[in-house]
Amino acid sequence: MEIKQESKFKKLFKRYGVLSLACVFSLAIALTIALCVKSNEGKPVSTDNIKFELPMNNAVVVKDYADDHLQFNESLKRWEIHLSVDLSSENSEVFSVADGIIASVSTDSLNGSVVKIEHADGFVSVYSSLAEDVKVKEGDKVTKGQAIGNASDTATNESKNGSHLHFTLLKNGLEVDPNNYLDLQNK
Ligand SMILES: [Zn+2]
Repeated sequence: MEIKQESKFKKLFKRYGVLSLACVFSLAIALTIALCVKSNEGKPVSTDNIKFELPMNNAVVVKDYADDHLQFNESLKRWEIHLSVDLSSENSEVFSVADGIIASVSTDSLNGSVVKIEHADGFVSVYSSLAEDVKVKEGDKVTKGQAIGNASDTATNESKNGSHLHFTLLKNGLEVDPNNYLDLQNK
């Protein structure tokens, strides 16, 4: 009888013991991952998955990104936060900074012609003050370095800057400093 009971226990352990060990093990892994993710909150996100290329060749920065101080807007005659980088180059061609899909192409008097491109990892690049003959349309697939249009002075809110590209980079819907991702200052 005793032997029978023991073998019954062994059978039960064989059936469920391994299973519960596996459960405990996977629970531990899940907990570790959860803790790791939590401890990463607020730290800079790695962008190793996506490498950006410059939106213009041989461009100079006309007006830089700044989220900690106001900059004077000569065109609108007012102080404002400039969460973008204005670039100017003799060659006005503008290129997609990464592979992506054209999310929108629009034109309004304040910003001129504007192209929005969706990339991987929650990045969106926005190209404002483009000439009206934009080379892409909504839904188009673009590759890194593909020409999408030309910088111009179509944005009346920055017309005093002359022909330039007003370049904005968004990560998960929020403006980020493009200088953290692109070598804009050294070309
Ligand atoms: Zn600008």
